[in-house]
Amino acid sequence: MIGSTLTPMAPGGSAMTDPFGRTISYLRVSITDRCDLRCVYCMSEDMTFLPRADLLTLEELDRLCSAFIAKGVKKLRLTGGEPLVRRNMMSLVRSLSRHLHTGALDELTLTTNGSQLARYAAELADCGVRRINVSLDTLDPDKFRAITRWGDLGKVLAGIDAARDAGLAVKINAVALKDVNEDEIPSLMEWAHGKGMALTLIEVMPMGEIGEGRIDQYVPLSLLRARLAGHYTLIDLDDNTGGPARYVRVSETGGKLGFITPMTHNFCESCNRVRVTCTGTLHTCLGHEDASDLRRPLRGSQSDELLGEAIDRAIALKPKGHDFIIDRQHNRPSVSRHMSVTGG
Ligand code: SAM
Repeated sequence: MIGSTLTPMAPGGSAMTDPFGRTISYLRVSITDRCDLRCVYCMSEDMTFLPRADLLTLEELDRLCSAFIAKGVKKLRLTGGEPLVRRNMMSLVRSLSRHLHTGALDELTLTTNGSQLARYAAELADCGVRRINVSLDTLDPDKFRAITRWGDLGKVLAGIDAARDAGLAVKINAVALKDVNEDEIPSLMEWAHGKGMALTLIEVMPMGEIGEGRIDQYVPLSLLRARLAGHYTLIDLDDNTGGPARYVRVSETGGKLGFITPMTHNFCESCNRVRVTCTGTLHTCLGHEDASDLRRPLRGSQSDELLGEAIDRAIALKPKGHDFIIDRQHNRPSVSRHMSVTGG
């Protein structure tokens, strides 16, 4: 069985605070770099995936997450790649849910493309997952196939319905793509809000080689927001969760609309999160090449002492912020790793 105990952290078991006074309470873990889709802005079609032997086992992932929880992480998000394609991943979710029962963890959640959700929604709910994010950029089946290279929109919609039937709150995340879905944003929003789901729009970030220029994909959300404001009343909300999204309430639909604007707005000052890849590499900033290996200390000792020290060292070096740049001079990835490895 995975993770029957939660080993108290020695030394430095107290809350993680970085040099800029930000308390780290949110961990995002990519549990696999594999995905059953190949979204054009995320991966190249012939992506090379990591050798399986490099991946942390589910037991190691559990130990790693539990170490962070012992150090003050309150919110844990499983992501990928596509988290639901990792074999047996429900045993990890089930095992991590013990931290919800003890109250050590406030929220266990995941980000998914929804393609496998119909199968797992009820079990996720049973494990104490209350909310999930589903990535969906279009409601047009042909466009969906083109963006994802072969995805079946029907499966994702069925997954979303299953999640809602299971009582999960669903937030839709859509990457805004120039000339692809930018005109569809109002109808996507009306659809999501009509089902009581929030919609968050995301700007394309320059991460990883994808075989196409970013400049062709990028559309600033400031532009889309201005267009929406021509037809809807957008009321700023200040429910800031420490995350990058800025939210508005749309009067006409009553729903929530979020904007994640790494390119046009700097959201680093309130950053409370770090990311771990499926190989145990800790990234304390999405937009920097900073990386700390946690796999070696994890495997180097049965106790979590080395691991705790490695985490502390990394947090002490968390950068103040980042700047992504996409323009004609910088039409290359700012960060060489793909979102699917880092965990979006
Ligand atoms: N497979 C899951 C999913 O689709 O949600 C989780 C991983 S995916 C990498 C997480 C999110 O990152 C998705 O919403 C995806 O659209 C987004 N994403 C991937 N590459 C991106 C990029 N270069 N810029 C902005 N968002 C990106």
